[in-house]
Amino acid sequence: MKLTLSFDNGPDPEVTPGVLDVLRDRGVIAQFYVIGRQLGGRHGRRLVERARDDGHLVGNHSFSHAVPLGQDRRPDAVLAEIAATEALLAPLVPGRRFRPFGGGGAIGRHLLSRRAVDYLVANGYSCVLWNSVPRDWIDPDGWPARALADCATRPHTLLALHDVPHACLAGLAGFIDAARAAGFELVSDVPPDCAPIVDGRIVGSLDDLVAPAGY
Ligand SMILES: [Zn+2]
Repeated sequence: MKLTLSFDNGPDPEVTPGVLDVLRDRGVIAQFYVIGRQLGGRHGRRLVERARDDGHLVGNHSFSHAVPLGQDRRPDAVLAEIAATEALLAPLVPGRRFRPFGGGGAIGRHLLSRRAVDYLVANGYSCVLWNSVPRDWIDPDGWPARALADCATRPHTLLALHDVPHACLAGLAGFIDAARAAGFELVSDVPPDCAPIVDGRIVGSLDDLVAPAGY
């Protein structure tokens, strides 16, 4: 069984350095999906650069993380959320990866709009989802046990954690050790079922991910 770790909603000056330390000490390469408004200051940019230099993939997780794109009626939502963050990320990291947000990690038609899909395709993005959400931000103590049990239900889990205060960090080192002891291989790639768009090509079904027309 394989396990890929991802960390959303950072970078956070209090938490992301600790997450990066744990990953470095345990030799784990992961993925980070960052929020554009947290990249404005020097601290945010430096954390992205450190994650990049440590070998991690860093992607775009919207600018404001406020209204899911499938529910955002602003005509310029795609530019304000995806393009604005990419303008900050592009000088720092290679590649274009976007992870949508919303609904407490539920997969659904709130995640994307048709406009967003068109933009991702036209600009060569990969769209990276997840297949396990152990709700570390709600249960900082209990998420590792729940995640281990859930990861055992599929051959390759892409786990969505959060490098924000009071979420995954306290349990992260123990979780990685327990996962390895249980036989999981920590890898850095994305399971095919979690990437419906790869380098601008639609390779999976978007039916359950895109809002009805009008958004
Ligand atoms: Zn998020």
